[in-house]
Amino acid sequence: MLSIAFVGHIDHGKSTLIGRLLYDTKSLPKGKIEEIKKTCKALGRKLEFAYICDALEEERKNQMTIETSQTFFHSKKREYVIIDAPGHKEFLKNMITGTSQADAAILIVDAKEGIKEQTKRHAYLLKLLGIKKVIVTINKMDLVNYEEKIFENIRKNLLSYLKEIGIKPIDLIPISAYYGDNVVENSKRMKWWNGSTLIETLDKLQKEKESFDFRFAVQDKYELNGEAIYLGNILSGNLKKGDIVKSFPEGKDVKVEKIICSEKELKSVNSPKAVGIVTKAKLRRGDILAKDSNPIITKEITPSVFCLIDEIKENEDLILRCVTQEVGCKVKKILERIDVETLKREEVKELKETEIGKLKLILKNPIVLEKFGRLKELGRFVLLKNGKIIAGGIIT
Ligand code: GDP
Repeated sequence: MLSIAFVGHIDHGKSTLIGRLLYDTKSLPKGKIEEIKKTCKALGRKLEFAYICDALEEERKNQMTIETSQTFFHSKKREYVIIDAPGHKEFLKNMITGTSQADAAILIVDAKEGIKEQTKRHAYLLKLLGIKKVIVTINKMDLVNYEEKIFENIRKNLLSYLKEIGIKPIDLIPISAYYGDNVVENSKRMKWWNGSTLIETLDKLQKEKESFDFRFAVQDKYELNGEAIYLGNILSGNLKKGDIVKSFPEGKDVKVEKIICSEKELKSVNSPKAVGIVTKAKLRRGDILAKDSNPIITKEITPSVFCLIDEIKENEDLILRCVTQEVGCKVKKILERIDVETLKREEVKELKETEIGKLKLILKNPIVLEKFGRLKELGRFVLLKNGKIIAGGIIT
């Protein structure tokens, strides 16, 4: 299964494209389309594919279960899961905080409106979030008479921007989500296009397997029959019964006496997995167990940060949270703000909502990290102000 995120400027057609994909791949729940057709008819409107997305969103809100918080579609080749059908801010927040992780992203640009500031901001965030598989769709080709020249023009400009930020898109495809051109069906109205459809391009993507050294985040402790069991998540790597690992930030040795998973004892376990570790060593929530190599331990970082809400000011005290670690920190300096339009780096005293920049943070206690490119879970964090997540950061 491949997870994909849909990004791009508002109204450029994310919902419509999702609806079209679900419809043309026949992935919709039974009766859904009839229901939507009826509603459209009653409202005296044509069937809008964006409604499919809205209808599913509505259903999801009512049911509130994890299973329905995801939308699936399938090609002849495999299953796809759509990450947070365009809830915009929530979607960005979830990606930044690591609640949802996309294997690939589809960046949508309106052929008539062209590249907007938000198109660039989203592209920049994809780069920051390490999403390397990006497919660009130039949508609403019907509104520009399916003209090749217009497609070529946007293609050229966008490629030049993407190159500057370090994204090499898998493909750029002219589509009409509304009429279904080049989404699942080849377009009869763009004879000049001899590239692939969106679904063909998606089907060619390979899921990347990430692997890194053993890391475990201690979440909780409980005692059973006089033994201390530390619960947490294996973030990466493999652990065997009898292993001697180290606990950071202190760096002390920890002998793994037993590995427990769903009340069973395991000899060996691979990430990602939630397990209990039995050891005589004393551990605390927030400790990171490591093997194979030592993690980064530091009290000073200069991460890239995306401000989600509120603002970040110099000299402000915030809380940094990374997996189960929580540490107080001070914003020593805002090193730069990036203007996503021009990619110029500016000197500022605060980062406002939706702005991207670099900070220098001084932590009250040492924290255990990894570079985001090596291990996402320990390479990303969130900043909290008054108990609320206001920003996400990445260790580059
Ligand atoms: P989102 O905000 O990016 O999710 O955009 P929507 O999917 O809600 O689309 C915004 C508007 O653009 C809606 O009225 C759609 O019907 C319209 N739209 C989307 N795709 C197309 C397209 O391919 N052609 C045309 N003509 N309209 C489109």
